[in-house]
Amino acid sequence: MDEVTITTQQAMARFRASLLRRASAVAWVVLIIIAAQAVRAEVFVEVGFWIPMTALAAMLVVSAATRWDKLMATRFASWIAVGWLTGLIIGISAFALVPALTATATPILYGIAAVSGLLLVWWAHAFMTVFIAAAISFVALRTGQLAEIQDVIGLALTVTVVSAATALIGMEFEREALRSADRESQIDQQRLDFERLYAVSATLARAESLSEIVPHLVGTICKYLDAQVGLVLLYNAERHRLEVMSPIWVNGHPLDTDVIVLDVTTPGVVSQTYRSGKPFFVKEVDSDTDAHVLLSDLGLRQALVAPLKVENLRVGAIIVGDPYHGSFNEDQLEQLGSLAAPAGLVLSQIGRYEAQAEMTKRLEEVAKMKTDFVSTVSHELRTPLTSIIGSLDTVNRPELAPTQATAQQLLGTARRQAGRLQRLIDDLLVVSRIDRGAIPVHLEPVPLKSAFDEVKRVVSIEPSFTIEPDDLTVEADRDHLTRILINLVENAAKYASGSSVELYAWERPTKAVIAVVDHGPGIPDNEKERVFERFTQIDQSDTRSKGGTGLGLSIVKSLAEVMHGAVRVEATEGGGATFVVELPLAHTLQSRAG
Ligand code: ADP
Repeated sequence: MDEVTITTQQAMARFRASLLRRASAVAWVVLIIIAAQAVRAEVFVEVGFWIPMTALAAMLVVSAATRWDKLMATRFASWIAVGWLTGLIIGISAFALVPALTATATPILYGIAAVSGLLLVWWAHAFMTVFIAAAISFVALRTGQLAEIQDVIGLALTVTVVSAATALIGMEFEREALRSADRESQIDQQRLDFERLYAVSATLARAESLSEIVPHLVGTICKYLDAQVGLVLLYNAERHRLEVMSPIWVNGHPLDTDVIVLDVTTPGVVSQTYRSGKPFFVKEVDSDTDAHVLLSDLGLRQALVAPLKVENLRVGAIIVGDPYHGSFNEDQLEQLGSLAAPAGLVLSQIGRYEAQAEMTKRLEEVAKMKTDFVSTVSHELRTPLTSIIGSLDTVNRPELAPTQATAQQLLGTARRQAGRLQRLIDDLLVVSRIDRGAIPVHLEPVPLKSAFDEVKRVVSIEPSFTIEPDDLTVEADRDHLTRILINLVENAAKYASGSSVELYAWERPTKAVIAVVDHGPGIPDNEKERVFERFTQIDQSDTRSKGGTGLGLSIVKSLAEVMHGAVRVEATEGGGATFVVELPLAHTLQSRAG
């Protein structure tokens, strides 16, 4: 696993290396100052000047070429730093032995004591402090600045105070470095977690079905947790059990499995994880206990189990495991928990989507069965009915008609009812054809005048016509158009009995508008959409008495639509219903209009 953790050592090594680089740069400046002092005091030819100058310059050249980051990360870091500082102290002390340079060199030794506090661990720093105090005292005694040995105590104290102060700052730095190392590794861990989460979410986002998503999901999670075996269990609400989704993930490959189920009420760890909603770390799979039965069946020795859930809705559980010990820790359990969260969400959505798709498929099948049934039954009824109507019409012919009034009346009733039945069967057949998308449509230019004439011949009343212009022609199926108009006029005759019925037609830029107007009771506003739905009858008692089926207007609407038209109902001024049918103009007219 590509775990990222910045250790204290690494952080301190980086800090020390950068301090050493800066100290080297400052040391160059110090050398230049001492050299300038030597030139001014004319001591630059003295051995006490050029030997330490050459040695220190050589040391600083080597310093500049040194890769301090690497050196400070080794376990010899402290010794190397001690060596570097010792070299510096000896060189500077050597300068200080030249009386003209003492005043310049001695404070630099105090400075080195300060750097030592930042650079070294406490024991090395203590050692350096003693060494610097000794060096300063030695220089002071040798150059005659100190007459008495007890004056050395004052010097040593000064060095100690400087050292202690910088040691305190150094400790604070170390603590800060530790804290920032901690923060950095936390941020890195979070970045890694986000990357994994993103990878899992991306896998999920591509999925359309459970069978497609599960192997990808488990594979991605196993990869991130470095696990060999992974599987998802989903809750089956109908059977109240957890079902292992096939395939499971083994050694980097999906493996199809037989049906494996777990009763959610059992005390096993997986069922328990599902019930409690809390992830569980099985450190040692015990093949003798019932609680680990699934895990031991899978040959696992260690396993992490996390619930798949969305808020409080439990979807299932996910298991990752290995056939040996020592693969997992608590951190990985936490990671599995966070990876399981988006997985639970998407799996539940896909599960719901699949259930809905299944339901839709079933409903479509039922709808098709219904349509087929209506179509078959209607066909079967039509043949005997045609024969009955034919026989009744024959019996009603003057030469055969019975003479008795009652018999005539009965024959008349039978003929009317048979006619009613025939219209119903016709309507049912049209409806089933519409449902199957099997309604034939032959679009052609139909002059409205001829269509209106045809309607007038067939309907039971005498509607008035107004067509403007006279030769107004629509692009329509002649049979469907007459069926629409007959239906609307017959409805007007039926529901607005006693009122006059008028047919109007006029032209709009791209369409013709036909209105069937009556002055009857009209259609209430809140029913204006609904009347076009199947089996809708506004006043059932009224309709029953008038022999309707509630199919007529739905057929009108469907037929208008298959001809690229539309239908709606409005109120007639002064009361009544106005059914408005819009149809495309025939091309000839359209071009004339354009
Ligand atoms: P039905 O076979 O019952 O006539 P329709 O689909 O043709 O079925 O009509 C649906 C309902 O709309 C009817 O039951 C009737 O209540 C109402 N309706 C239809 N046309 C008119 C009209 N011209 N005036 C008033 N009500 C009407």
